[in-house]
Amino acid sequence: MFNLAIIGGGPAGYTAAAEASEAGMKVVLFERDTLGGTCLNVGCIPTKTLLYSAKQYFNATNASKYGVSADNVSFDYQKMQQRKQKVVRKLVAGVRQKLRNGNCTVVAGEASVLSRTDEKVVIECNGEQYEAENLMICTGSQNFVPPIPGVKDNPYVWNSTDALDSKELPADILIVGGGVIGMEFATLYHELGVNVTDVEAMPSVLPNLDKDCVGVLLEKYRKLGVRILTSTKVKSLEENRVIIQTEEGEETLTADKVLICVGRRANLAGLEALQGLEIERGAVKVNDFMQTNLRNVYAAGDVTGKIMLAHVASRQAEVAVGRMLKQIPLQRIAYNAIPSVVYTNPEIASVGLTEADLTGAECVLPIEYEAKVLPMAFSGRFVAENEGENGLCKVIIDKKNQTLLGVHMVGNPCSEFVAAASFAVRMGYTVSEFKQVVFPHPTVSEILRETVI
Ligand code: NAD
Repeated sequence: MFNLAIIGGGPAGYTAAAEASEAGMKVVLFERDTLGGTCLNVGCIPTKTLLYSAKQYFNATNASKYGVSADNVSFDYQKMQQRKQKVVRKLVAGVRQKLRNGNCTVVAGEASVLSRTDEKVVIECNGEQYEAENLMICTGSQNFVPPIPGVKDNPYVWNSTDALDSKELPADILIVGGGVIGMEFATLYHELGVNVTDVEAMPSVLPNLDKDCVGVLLEKYRKLGVRILTSTKVKSLEENRVIIQTEEGEETLTADKVLICVGRRANLAGLEALQGLEIERGAVKVNDFMQTNLRNVYAAGDVTGKIMLAHVASRQAEVAVGRMLKQIPLQRIAYNAIPSVVYTNPEIASVGLTEADLTGAECVLPIEYEAKVLPMAFSGRFVAENEGENGLCKVIIDKKNQTLLGVHMVGNPCSEFVAAASFAVRMGYTVSEFKQVVFPHPTVSEILRETVI
């Protein structure tokens, strides 16, 4: 009998397996595909690898503004793809290595729950049965296929996995959805010379992010010729003809490929035998300690539908294992201090509350706040390395007790120092406490301190 069975080997599953087995629990982890899950195989890592190649090409073609001439710059998409595969293989091997500690059995195959009592869970995989005291559901999510007529079985339609796998670049692409995935693919394809049109149903792309940061990005993309249609819905597709509904009426667009990026949905297949398991808005419902309503069943990662980010998944897994081991003090996740990054060019990075969270129609917390804003140009390093670029840093401060509630930035490489902002928000730093932290000069990170003080 195992102490813990984990279904799914993505960031939630492999983190839980490593933590629990290192703590002495006997663990079995089931993975039907490749260890590393969406993040390592068809998500974060392959996109960031291709985006880096695209950025190298884009920077080389725009190097003259730094006094560098580079003629006849070209790229080989096949080589970019090969490198992507190499990076993925290396990182997957790293995960495999992490789980080789004697207490963890990794089973390759599709697992499903056969039965459950408060004492044990029985799992079936490859015709064999496995018993465990506890179960952790880490089955992740999959691309959502919207019920738009003409999307299903259309050879012109891609999801993000198809796009990442393709050996060829389309001449033009229509991206449905201006969320994180949509905007990152818009960046990749634009930088590689593909004509990009992005169609977003909401009045703005990246609707949950700080409006001013998104504004800086959009201003640049407009100048570059990335076509972004907001308040526009895709009504139907006929082969590669896309019928869109704008505020003015219907229009037909054509593209070599149509990439659908309209969100992801939790993977719940194989869990049917967990009688009474509470599902909320299509995801497994969990409490602050990642416990489901069934005594010995936990869940972590995208399947919980909380925030679909790999770093949230791995932290959720740590919290769940801590609860299982009855660690004192029990920890919860600080959802108020989860950083997020959109790998556009320039990058957008943020943590904590936005102005929209604190005021207006979407207000979740009506408290008085102050928003301090500075252009990135207040950082010497930013000016030195970002010729002709704009950026900004916005810090949201609780007016009454002067604590930092949120930080929102646009400008490269803000993804690399948003962790400092997360730390401040997580620890509830006040303006005067933050002022005492010394930042290295010259770095773009200094913008944080400059904005706060
Ligand atoms: P999303 O929910 O972030 O965005 C989907 C967008 O599609 C929304 O803005 C929505 O309004 C729009 N939309 C929906 N139906 C539409 C239609 N018919 N026509 C036009 N627009 C439509 O989803 P996503 O971008 O697919 O990302 C999925 C998840 O993966 C998210 O939780 C995201 O945070 C995560 N992710 C994160 C990163 C990162 O952290 N860098 C990268 C990729 C994905």
